[in-house]
Amino acid sequence: MDAAGCIEKCKRVGVLDFATVDASGAPQVRNISAIHYEGMALYFLTARGKYFADELRADGRVQILAYTMYKETIRLSGRAFEVPAQEQQKWMDRIYEEQPYLANVYPGDTKKIDTIFCLKDYRIEYFCLSARPITRQYFVVGEAEPIRKGYFIADDCIGCGVCQTVCPQEDITEGTPFSIDPEHCLQCGNCFENCPVGAIHRI
Ligand code: SF4
Ligand code: SF4
Repeated sequence: MDAAGCIEKCKRVGVLDFATVDASGAPQVRNISAIHYEGMALYFLTARGKYFADELRADGRVQILAYTMYKETIRLSGRAFEVPAQEQQKWMDRIYEEQPYLANVYPGDTKKIDTIFCLKDYRIEYFCLSARPITRQYFVVGEAEPIRKGYFIADDCIGCGVCQTVCPQEDITEGTPFSIDPEHCLQCGNCFENCPVGAIHRI
């Protein structure tokens, strides 16, 4: 998998979950299909009076989730921005062309209440559960900061092998110290909970 492949899969899923954070810090999630893909950038539509628009303006952080029929999760995380006024019409027309149902939602001039946001810089987490071992990959698009997640084994590993016996994905290799392959790790924490000397740490 690569970043472009993840975006192709998002297009095919069509309706994606968009999560933001509200003023009280509570998560807010909704389904969005009014999306135009321009290369790796996502332009998406909402109305200026919606809480979603307020949350995007106030905080900007958005997490977008797609789930495919092949048990793949694709998660995009980044900071969206409201498209400048002079570009609004262009992207709005594009989204209305691609999503004809919108004309029923905002007929005629009522669509002037709409506004377009864009996500250009983001991280992608790809997670596939349909083959063994499972696959987990990270990608960066644009200027987003990369992230590292999961578990690692430190030098105080005594080589007892307990972690190997409890790993559901046989993802731990013998060595000095033993090591975890992050591309096939569930991040379930079973090795972490069972290491007798506390040599396994969360990143
Ligand atoms: S259980 Fe802990 S000490 Fe034993 S091999 Fe695994 S990491 Fe090393
Ligand atoms: S976190 Fe879970 S899947 Fe990953 S290495 Fe540890 S036991 Fe295996």
